[in-house]
Amino acid sequence: MDFTEDQINRYSRHILLQDVGVEGQEKICNGKILIVGAGGLGSPVALYLAAAGVGTLGIIDGDVVDLSNLQRQIIHFTADVGKPKVISAKEKIEQLNPDVKVITYPFLLTAENALDIIKDYDFVIDGTDNFPVKFLINDACVMAGKPYSHGGILRFEGQTFTYVPGSACYRCLFHSPPPPNAVPTCSQAGVLGAIAGMLGTIQAAEALKYLTGAGELLTNRLLTFNAKTMEFRTIKTRHNDKCPVSGTNPTVTELIDYEQAACDLASHKK
Ligand SMILES: [Zn+2]
Repeated sequence: MDFTEDQINRYSRHILLQDVGVEGQEKICNGKILIVGAGGLGSPVALYLAAAGVGTLGIIDGDVVDLSNLQRQIIHFTADVGKPKVISAKEKIEQLNPDVKVITYPFLLTAENALDIIKDYDFVIDGTDNFPVKFLINDACVMAGKPYSHGGILRFEGQTFTYVPGSACYRCLFHSPPPPNAVPTCSQAGVLGAIAGMLGTIQAAEALKYLTGAGELLTNRLLTFNAKTMEFRTIKTRHNDKCPVSGTNPTVTELIDYEQAACDLASHKK
């Protein structure tokens, strides 16, 4: 890959880094990253990965921009209200860095489409705000052997870890999704907008570390923080041989749409 003078200038602060250099920047420029959710987490992830020059960014989100999103979803502007989030995000990315190819998926990630979409990418970002899709991303990445970054935020708190094949997965830590409505979402309990930026930028950094091979990924560790005290904790985790998806005798052998299952359950009760 031959960089133009403009590219050398644009990426000079990466190229200067001993752990990145020209080789690392080439890896970033050849990288393909899928961002699931163009919301609070997906916004900073998409902006930083676009700025970094990631070659291909896939963005999947079925929502349109709502006025209540703008408090934290910084890739969307006031004039974008009503516009599909993937289109709004694509427009900003293209303005920021024309080197980046953006592929948009204006629908939800489901058990039916997840493996087919994920297979084209090197690394996946979980930027979603609900448990059914978090488990779906985990299971799909475990089954496809794809690394991904988990991210969750609520109120003043955030948590994140990185999965690579063989390391602890989401189900090694949390066996299965909580019952519907057992845990509030951001739309029910609120979230400090800047928390999304704090967590999303950690996820973007993990993706860039993965592409370049720099440093040590946040694997077999769960990072949590509470912005009220600004305390960060890292909890050691380990792969669980009895994990329902990544263990030696998995019971989850195909993808599950948990929301669908909950709806079915409700209709059965009637
Ligand atoms: Zn597991």
